[in-house]
Amino acid sequence: MSQFTSSRYVVIGAGMHGLSTAYHLAVELRARGVGSGADIVVLDKATPGAGATGIACGVVRNNYFQPAMSELMQACVEVWESDPAAYHYNPVGYIALGPQVQESDLTAVYERHERIGYRSELHLGEPAVHAHMKSLFPDWRAQGVTVCLHERQGGFAFNLESVQGLRDKCLSQGVTIHSYTEVTGFRFGPDDSVTAVETSRGDVLVGEQVVIAPGPWAQRFWSMLGLPARIDIHTPSGDVARDQPMWTYWNLQEGEISVDPLMFATADGGAPPVIHLDTDAPLTTDDGVLVTDELWGIYFKRDRHGVQGGASPLTVDGDVELDPYPATTNVDPSFSVMWCAALSHAMSRFEGCSAKYKHARSGGVGSFTADNFPVFDWLKPNVYGVLDSNHGYKMIGVGREVARVLLGETAPLLTPFRFERFATGDLHPVSNSPYPWS
Ligand SMILES: Cc1cc2nc3c(=O)[nH]c(=O)nc-3n(C[C@H](O)[C@H](O)[C@H](O)COP(=O)(O)OP(=O)(O)OC[C@H]3O[C@@H](n4cnc5c(N)ncnc54)[C@H](O)[C@@H]3O)c2cc1C
Repeated sequence: MSQFTSSRYVVIGAGMHGLSTAYHLAVELRARGVGSGADIVVLDKATPGAGATGIACGVVRNNYFQPAMSELMQACVEVWESDPAAYHYNPVGYIALGPQVQESDLTAVYERHERIGYRSELHLGEPAVHAHMKSLFPDWRAQGVTVCLHERQGGFAFNLESVQGLRDKCLSQGVTIHSYTEVTGFRFGPDDSVTAVETSRGDVLVGEQVVIAPGPWAQRFWSMLGLPARIDIHTPSGDVARDQPMWTYWNLQEGEISVDPLMFATADGGAPPVIHLDTDAPLTTDDGVLVTDELWGIYFKRDRHGVQGGASPLTVDGDVELDPYPATTNVDPSFSVMWCAALSHAMSRFEGCSAKYKHARSGGVGSFTADNFPVFDWLKPNVYGVLDSNHGYKMIGVGREVARVLLGETAPLLTPFRFERFATGDLHPVSNSPYPWS
């Protein structure tokens, strides 16, 4: 095919990671006097924010049991806090509440926050948790919650608006963004470096490096690069799980209720923190019908038009034929019953909210690695992969670290996410959370 364009740096994917990488790389090139944004093109088969970034709930938090995730998240929160207006970031904080089985995990997270200087507080025991939550929300009534980690940093951002903020920052640095340019393959040189990116508009010749940031389309790029669909996973204890799929999918369950957003405020009328509630108390609808008597969890935040949030994702069997997220809801019909019952379980102000459930564009598939944690690594001599295992709307700072790697520096925050960990057994610890991303 004919040549479409050429560029020193080619970034594939105009979501959170592609845009953040392009922007931070442009800044670094200029600061070091070795180039500028004019050396970077971003390619996207649709438009900026068409992927997972544009449908994310937008929660930004540092409730991570894994030390490496927690340290990386602290750096990401720093980036969010650096320009809240451009990123449409709301630093309202984040509260994680759990039953007894999560006490030790959340305590460990809190202790690490203290060590790394991330502002949070811990409340332990049912009476203490209840008192703290009631001081914020006088109608708080959730049962079975014995631990509360209240992050004073973190919060949420508006998904598409933050993409626009990042896109504008890229453009202001001279980066070119080519929308509607689908990558269909790669051409390799003798040393396995990529020499050209094949696209629907022709070839893009590569001067130096390629970054792939394809979000849930990771598996497709993995195979275009000739990487193994199945791998062996060596655990820290020396066990080997053989022939595991590298990529799996979960369907994220999210939705919203149409209410006056101001009905969800703190006792003093302030903006409420994002809330994540896990409990093993029986969950019933407002009519008294049992929804579940097993551990359940939800998260929710104040949004522009009401209250938005989600619950545990559902596993997806087999391969997924992904396309841009549909314009309709992507969630299981049972979700609204459970989520509305859970909101009402948490606070009496949400009683009867199931009637206000809105079938909006929300939820959708996320793509996960073999251990559910990101892979940030060189995949070919000049191809760097930003494959976040669906952790990453909040990870706006990863692009800043990747930019340093592209310029030949080490980025210690990214080292624990190298692909090699599956072979060396250097895996991340696993928490007691029912979610694949905690
Ligand atoms: C429903 C849902 C809710 C979520 N909520 C949160 C949350 O609250 N907080 C959080 O931290 N994370 C959340 N996540 C995860 C988060 O959205 C993703 O981890 C993150 O947005 C991924 O960013 P990305 O830049 O890697 O990918 P994306 O945003 O998906 O961007 C990838 C881009 O690549 C483009 N592309 C794909 N294939 C090609 C191709 N062949 N050629 C050219 N371009 C291509 C796509 O069009 C897309 O624009 C959520 C995810 C989902 C699905």
